Amino acid sequence: MKIICIGRNYIDHAKELSNPVPEVPVFFMKPETSILKKNQDFFYPEFSKDIHYEVELVVKISKIGTHIQEEFAHKHYEEIGLGIDFTARDIQAKQKKKGLPWEIAKAFDYSAPISDFIPKSKLGDLNKLQFALRKNRHIVQSGSSKDMIFSIDKIIAYISQFVSLKIGDLIFTGTPAGVGPIAIGDRLTGFIEEKEMFSFEIK
Ligand code: ZN
Repeated sequence: MKIICIGRNYIDHAKELSNPVPEVPVFFMKPETSILKKNQDFFYPEFSKDIHYEVELVVKISKIGTHIQEEFAHKHYEEIGLGIDFTARDIQAKQKKKGLPWEIAKAFDYSAPISDFIPKSKLGDLNKLQFALRKNRHIVQSGSSKDMIFSIDKIIAYISQFVSLKIGDLIFTGTPAGVGPIAIGDRLTGFIEEKEMFSFEIK
């Protein structure tokens, strides 16, 4: 399986990092080894001093597809979860400056904690899905899929022009504003609507 992540899919987050608002989705990948299973602790890696959280809705692909039309994209996923796209912001900034790929800042081991998945039939309107991240006692990010620049169906149509999607692939759909650093001892808890999706500690 593979993990495809969308960058800059919320205008307010693109602005907070001084990035232009994209005309087509920007995507990058994380390998299978980046997955951190639900509620396992995250160990702060030694190569960075500025790891940031980015909470994101995650789509699990349930049907293989290439060149999927937007109008049929909804048939290619049945479940939604929540994840964090951990980013070594210090390393990413260096890579961006040099115009180099981001993998070293994004694809490292355990950089993709994920929750269990919920059938979309239980979630109501997927274009108005609320989600949030709490760090210790404070909500640090809250977003709604209604503010996505590119909807889930548009993302699937776009990606599948270049990369075939297979059963079990995960798509991280981008983060809203409010990204920030983690520190050892922090606890991160994620929610979709009112439901707690994961909770784990930084060690
Ligand atoms: Zn992200």
